[in-house]
Amino acid sequence: MKNKSIMILGSGLGGLVCAYILSKNGYKVRVLEKNTQIGGCLQTFKRGNVKFDTGMHYIGSMEEGQILHNFFKYLNLLDTVKLNRLDDSGYDVISLKGETFKFASGYDNFVQTLAKSFPNNKSDIENYIKRVREIADASPLYNLRKINNNIFIEADYIKTSVNEFIASITNNTKLQNVLAGNLPLYAGVKDKTPTYIHALINNFYIQSAYRIVGGSDIIAEQLANSIKSFGGEILTNSEVDEILCDNTKATSVRLTNGEILEADYFISNIHSQETIKKLNTKLLRKAYRDRINSLENTISNFTVYIKFKENTTPYLNYNYYYYQDPDVWKANFYNPKKFPQSYLFMHQCHEPNPKFAQSAELIGYMRYDEVKQWENTSVGKRGEDYKEFKEEKARKLLNKLEESFPGINNNIESYYTSSPLTYRDYTATQNGSMYGIIRDKNFPTQTLISQRTKVPNLFMTGQNINSHGILGVTIGAMITCAEFLGMNEIIQEIYNSNH
Ligand SMILES: Cc1cc2nc3c(=O)[nH]c(=O)nc-3n(C[C@H](O)[C@H](O)[C@H](O)COP(=O)(O)OP(=O)(O)OC[C@H]3O[C@@H](n4cnc5c(N)ncnc54)[C@H](O)[C@@H]3O)c2cc1C
Repeated sequence: MKNKSIMILGSGLGGLVCAYILSKNGYKVRVLEKNTQIGGCLQTFKRGNVKFDTGMHYIGSMEEGQILHNFFKYLNLLDTVKLNRLDDSGYDVISLKGETFKFASGYDNFVQTLAKSFPNNKSDIENYIKRVREIADASPLYNLRKINNNIFIEADYIKTSVNEFIASITNNTKLQNVLAGNLPLYAGVKDKTPTYIHALINNFYIQSAYRIVGGSDIIAEQLANSIKSFGGEILTNSEVDEILCDNTKATSVRLTNGEILEADYFISNIHSQETIKKLNTKLLRKAYRDRINSLENTISNFTVYIKFKENTTPYLNYNYYYYQDPDVWKANFYNPKKFPQSYLFMHQCHEPNPKFAQSAELIGYMRYDEVKQWENTSVGKRGEDYKEFKEEKARKLLNKLEESFPGINNNIESYYTSSPLTYRDYTATQNGSMYGIIRDKNFPTQTLISQRTKVPNLFMTGQNINSHGILGVTIGAMITCAEFLGMNEIIQEIYNSNH
C-alpha cells in the first residue's frame, strides 16, 4: 500500500497527526486546508503585538514517561513546544459562587488538597482517584499497550454517565459538583456524557498540567515542518467543495475554485456531518446519513480575548472555573437572560515564567440559537446589531469576572470577542460546537463515529473519532492511521521513538 497517495481534508490536529504518521511511513500525503492558517482549533490570531489562542489552551501528562510526552517525542514536538507548568498546588480552581476548591497535580496531592476542603470525605476522594485511575489504566490505547481486539474502552464506563459515576463515589453534593467542576473541558451533559470521557481527561491533567508558551499554533507549525520534511504537501486556501466518487470508491475532490485533485485514499478531518454533505454518492446509504445527521453537537462558546495594560496584572498559573449556581450541570442549560451563569478564565503564557500577564481569555458557554439570526452573514459583515449583541455579552462576562477578581477591569487595555459563528466559520464545526458530537451513554454505539465510512477508501479523523482534545484527537488519528499501518505497528513505532 505504501507509495499510494493520501489526501487529507482539513489541517486540524487530527489531519496533521495523520499526515505526520502516514508521510513518515512513506505515503504520498497532501493536506488541503480551507483557511490561510493551518491548525483548526490550534489557530491563533494577533491583535497588536499580542497573540491569542482560539482552541487549545492547556495540556496535561507531559512529564517524561507520561502519555502525551510519549506522543510529543514521537511527533518530534518536544524541542519546539515550550511549556509553562501550571500551579501544582491548584492547576484548576473551581469556584462555586466564589467559594473556591483546588485540583492539585499528582494523585496524592490531589487527594490531600481537596480533603482540606472536605475533611469528612477524604476516603471518597481517595476512591474517586482510584476509580479514575482504574478507568484510565483499562484503556490500552491511552497507555500505548498493544491490543488484541477492537475494545478500546470497557463497556461499563461507556454506559454510565459522569454524574452517576460521581454520585456513586460520594453523597456529598458539594463535593460532587466540585469533582465535576472542570466539565467545560468536555462540555459535559448531565445523564449523557459517559464516565470514560471525564476519567480520561481528568487523569490526563491530574498527572501534570501546562500551558503552551507562545501559543498553540506552534504545535501545528512544527507538525507541518515535519510533514514537509517527510515529503508531504500542505495546501492552504484550498477549500474542499465535494468529494467525488465513482460506483465503488472516492476518486478525487473538487475545490471551491473548481480544481480537481485525485488520490488513492482520502481522510476527512472535516466535521463528520459536513463531510457527508460533500458526498453525493449512493455508496452512503440513507440510514447512515440519517444517523450521522441526527447526532447532537456539544455546546459552543462566547469568548472575550483580553489584552492587559503592561505590568498591571500578576500572571495566574491556574485556570478558574466559575459557577453562579452551585449545581454545575445546569451551566449547559443556562438561561440567556441570566448570562453568564458560568465561565472559564485563563491567562495566556507568552514567555517562560512570566511575572505579569499580557493577555487572558474569558470563555462562557453559548448556544448557537443565540446567534442564529446572523447565521447567513460572514466574518466582519454581520451588522451593527450583532456588534451590540457581542458588546453586551462581553460586558456581562467582564462584570461577572470583576466579582471574583476585583479591579481587573481597570487593567484591561482592550478586548476582542468571538461567538459560535466565529467557530462555525473558522473550523466548519456544526453550530460552532466546541468538541463535536456529544457522546451519549444512553446511545453509546450510535454516538461513536467510526473512522471507516461506507466509501471504502474514505476515512474520518478528528475530534468526532475517539474523543476531542490534544490527547483524544491524537489517539483518534492513530485509530485512523491504523487502517493503513496496523494499530500495534504504530504503538511499536511510538515505543521505539521513546526508547
Ligand atoms: C474554545 C476551545 C477550547 C479548547 N481548549 C482545549 C484545551 O485547553 N486543551 C485541549 O487539549 N483541547 C482543547 N480544545 C479541543 C481541541 O482544540 C480540539 O479537540 C482539537 O483541536 C480538534 O481538532 P480536529 O482535528 O478535530 O479539528 P479542527 O481543529 O476542527 O480542524 C478541522 C480543520 O478542517 C478544516 N476544514 C473544514 N472544512 C474544510 C473544507 N471544506 N476544506 C478544507 N478544510 C476544511 C478547518 O478549517 C480546520 O482547519 C478546545 C476547543 C475549543 C473550541
